[in-house]
Amino acid sequence: MAGLLRRGPGGSRRTTPPITGGPSTVPDTDASSAAAAETSDSVVHVFWVSGMSCDGCSVAMLGASNPSLEDLVLDRVPITPRIVVHHPMLGADSGHDFMEPFTRAAEGTLGAPYILVVEGSIPDDQSLEREGQYAGLGVGGDWPQSLPASRADDQPLRATDWVWAMASGAAACIAIGTCATWGGIPAAAGNITGSMGLMDYLGADYRSTSGMPIVNVPGCAPVGDNFTETLAQILQFLEGIRPLPEFDALGRPAWQFGETVHRHCPKAGYYEEGVFSHEPGDNQCLVEIGCWGPVVQCNIVERGAIDHMGGCMVAGGACIGCTMPGFPDKYSPFYKSPPGSAISGGGSKIYGSGIRRLRRLSMQGGNRTPLSDNAHAVASGWAIANDKKDPLSTVNAYFYKKLQYHGSVNQGKRNKKQPLPKSREILRQKGVDLDASVDVLKERVVSREEL
Ligand code: SF4
Ligand code: SF4
Repeated sequence: MAGLLRRGPGGSRRTTPPITGGPSTVPDTDASSAAAAETSDSVVHVFWVSGMSCDGCSVAMLGASNPSLEDLVLDRVPITPRIVVHHPMLGADSGHDFMEPFTRAAEGTLGAPYILVVEGSIPDDQSLEREGQYAGLGVGGDWPQSLPASRADDQPLRATDWVWAMASGAAACIAIGTCATWGGIPAAAGNITGSMGLMDYLGADYRSTSGMPIVNVPGCAPVGDNFTETLAQILQFLEGIRPLPEFDALGRPAWQFGETVHRHCPKAGYYEEGVFSHEPGDNQCLVEIGCWGPVVQCNIVERGAIDHMGGCMVAGGACIGCTMPGFPDKYSPFYKSPPGSAISGGGSKIYGSGIRRLRRLSMQGGNRTPLSDNAHAVASGWAIANDKKDPLSTVNAYFYKKLQYHGSVNQGKRNKKQPLPKSREILRQKGVDLDASVDVLKERVVSREEL
């Protein structure tokens, strides 16, 4: 399969609006495409543009380990092109030196393919009547000569200018985090910035030079591995060594966001048995204190927040729907039980209370070896394990075994014929004093009071 990267940064360029005002046509870049064909092999630039952002997505991305950013930059991921990252917080250069690759990418003279990554929501600052920006990047002097400009050389440019100018020349365009994907917190009710997601800014017709609509990796903050994994797979697609990864109708990586977080939650067993937390810090299912997990698409508990560790419910936190379109308003007020949980949680309580008791009975039998059953005693010095089986448990075990071994070899019956071991009794008759050895141990024990 021929790699898309080797075609250069995109043959036909786009129509782009000036920094403020109406559209203008950008010059043909066939020459730069030809140059790119010579230089782009296995190197892809990644441009990071921040809109209305807290930089949490950057922090999440830096914590990724599978693959890590370092793996991608240092070409340690097999069959994946090396990336060159242009990130406002990570770049060694500053000022015009840092912005110069942005300028060349925007005017189509970078000479290599690039991926545009947008963090933070897109403010509606193109509609500001006067100059100004809610999120800036570079100054007027950094803007490509070939594009119409209206800023003085020393005046800040809008991040949204760069997003518009660079998106159509990008081999892929990725929105990272819930702000960039759906608008997120800056787009909450009452905001004055008119913030929106990248899709809302560029529109449904947007396609990258490789033909991809916008890819969305949501989360507040997102799982860093979700982003780097998606980036690596897109790089491999662009290189021509794998098909396009599967994305859902909202541009989310389908393999990451196809399931509800509830399905993989470590507390899902509590939900099924109808046992719920009433206070933060309780160990049971959190739905009655505001968990939206049953209807939220997120993979954090299977994947872990960082390096396969943590994740909301793993750490005792309820799901507040941070990966979802409409977050935060559609999932507020936080820590109030979602209305739907009254039906499903109520059903679990009824069903779970019975099933829970039956399971406890089965567990009693499950905590005894066939040898213990035959001897009618558990050879453990811990009192809890020596609890006698109650009659209900005995009846339950009888019918349970009947069903379990129906149509099969009855191992329970076979176990009953096993002779009891005699070694302990023989040793005792030979005079081995088990009580004395216990006394020796006791002598070494330091009591709590002595400590
Ligand atoms: S409701 Fe929340 S805490 Fe309870 S099992 Fe589902 S995801 Fe886990
Ligand atoms: S479990 Fe819920 S709150 Fe936690 S990351 Fe996923 S969507 Fe966000």
